[in-house]
Amino acid sequence: MSTAAITRFAPSPSGFLHLGHAFSALFAENEARLTKGRFLLRIEDIDPGRCRPAFEGAIFDDLSWLGLEWETPVRRQSDHMADYRAALDRLDGMGLLYPCFCTRKEIQHEIAHAGRAPHGPDGPLYPGTCRHLHADVRQKSIAAGTPYALRLDMAKAEAAIDGPLYWTDRDRGTQRADPAAFGDVVLARKDIPTSYHLAVTVDDALQGVTLVTRGEDLLPATHVHRLLQELLGLPIPEYRHHHLLTGPDGKRFAKRDKAQTIRALREEGRTPAEVRRMAGVAE
Ligand code: GLU
Repeated sequence: MSTAAITRFAPSPSGFLHLGHAFSALFAENEARLTKGRFLLRIEDIDPGRCRPAFEGAIFDDLSWLGLEWETPVRRQSDHMADYRAALDRLDGMGLLYPCFCTRKEIQHEIAHAGRAPHGPDGPLYPGTCRHLHADVRQKSIAAGTPYALRLDMAKAEAAIDGPLYWTDRDRGTQRADPAAFGDVVLARKDIPTSYHLAVTVDDALQGVTLVTRGEDLLPATHVHRLLQELLGLPIPEYRHHHLLTGPDGKRFAKRDKAQTIRALREEGRTPAEVRRMAGVAE
């Protein structure tokens, strides 16, 4: 019998859950149940522009309708900004962060004019415009109230650790992390004092998650998370990146596909057992 796994399902309340979410939630819960572990739910609502309390309520309602049970209290990321701040302070204390004042337009312009523009898993890499700004210029811009993001200086971060780094993916075997492929990632956005990468990594550690399960669309992000774990001295969970459910058209479900939301299926009169089957989960 494998050791008791602590797993989590971590949706963003930016729309109704669809069949792909149902699959992901049931996948995580199954891993915990089969090992007599623990299943957690986490609300990833750092983006107030996209998240709505009504969708959070709908997440609880739809998941319990599906028959899932999770531990309470549920961690809601927007309640824990101080934890992300503490992680940023630590990285800043190590000299690994720098403020980036660039607008999206300026970055695009810079990339368009560069002779070569290296690409990472999330698109063209940040060209590093603000990396070497003089301290005075930084101070003046901050004092003038110019909005800024905080970026990780990837070269310095890699130099600060004893590499190479690895993680265990239960389906794919040992993986070697290549965070440099992402360039100087944003760890705190201009409008939000954290980012997906930072909040997820800090939370998985604080919540004691031992097995991170999530869709394979998020596999590339694990390269960055593994580096953050190392820099912040956090434990390393194991991973399973599951396949993504697709609809009859072969496309993966998205929040904009209203017809395949659990809400719509419930209103159509489907039963929880039927929806579990539609999500590809056997009884
Ligand atoms: N909140 C992310 C999402 O809804 C998932 C985060 C994760 O599992 O790492 O796509």
